Amino acid sequence: MIIARSREALREILDLMSGSIGFVPTMGALHIGHRSLIEAARRENDIVVVSIYVNPTQFLAGEDLSKYPRKEEADFKICELSGVDVLFYPESMYESDEVSIKAPDVRGYILEGASRPGHFDGMLTVVMKLLNGVRPTRAYFGKKDAQQLALISQMVRNFGMNVEIVPMDTMREGDGLALSSRNIYLDEVQRGEALKLSASLKEATKMVMQKNFGTQSIQEAMIEVLKPLDVEYVAIVNRQFEAISEVVLGDTIVLVAARVGTTRLIDNVWM
Ligand code: AMP
Repeated sequence: MIIARSREALREILDLMSGSIGFVPTMGALHIGHRSLIEAARRENDIVVVSIYVNPTQFLAGEDLSKYPRKEEADFKICELSGVDVLFYPESMYESDEVSIKAPDVRGYILEGASRPGHFDGMLTVVMKLLNGVRPTRAYFGKKDAQQLALISQMVRNFGMNVEIVPMDTMREGDGLALSSRNIYLDEVQRGEALKLSASLKEATKMVMQKNFGTQSIQEAMIEVLKPLDVEYVAIVNRQFEAISEVVLGDTIVLVAARVGTTRLIDNVWM
């Protein structure tokens, strides 16, 4: 595995290689969710590039940028063992006073974008830079960050970018907790409370399987399951992220965001 620590070094390395490139952008503290993306990239491409970069522009003031988990040594090992060819590990991705991407006014500022205004501007900007730096054939993103995935797909479409965005299913612990780098903030008791997120989504799925398609009653039932967590939102939207009154199978995402202690967790299920 070759480690590139600057955009120039990355370009030099990739210019010497030929074949399709599968790219997995991450913020490190790699877990099995990340590995599932890397493994898909490995199966489907000649070259696998992973980036690890904790992007400051997608963190709001007061968020966990400075304490975001950094696990350089373990991450390098995971990448090496997963068959990554090139690890892009830049110190910084920005100069001062840059051109940047702005997320769409509605879709970029509801749900996650309402809780974290400006988050998606920073996320899209760094993803644009990463995609332009790597020039992958395919780029792999988790459905766990459903709104992020939708916005990246839209950016690729709106800017006519030449990359296939591959959505990947959410990987979970045996008890249902969605894997997240932020789970390491949870103590044992909080880890138990965090299960309410996936439990609320299971409740939603159960209701839909019983042909209970009304989104208001599903949301009410989810809020019951989530008690007493500090819930930021429970939402049921179509794939365009528009609120819907009835679940339509094949075009619905049920999302939840809640705080467990000071840790903000998100989860969702695609129906
Ligand atoms: P992050 O390091 O949190 O920026 O995540 C990097 C990529 O991994 C994103 O595309 C995430 O959606 C994806 N990801 C995060 N958690 C999971 C998970 N539990 N299962 C599958 N993919 C995930």
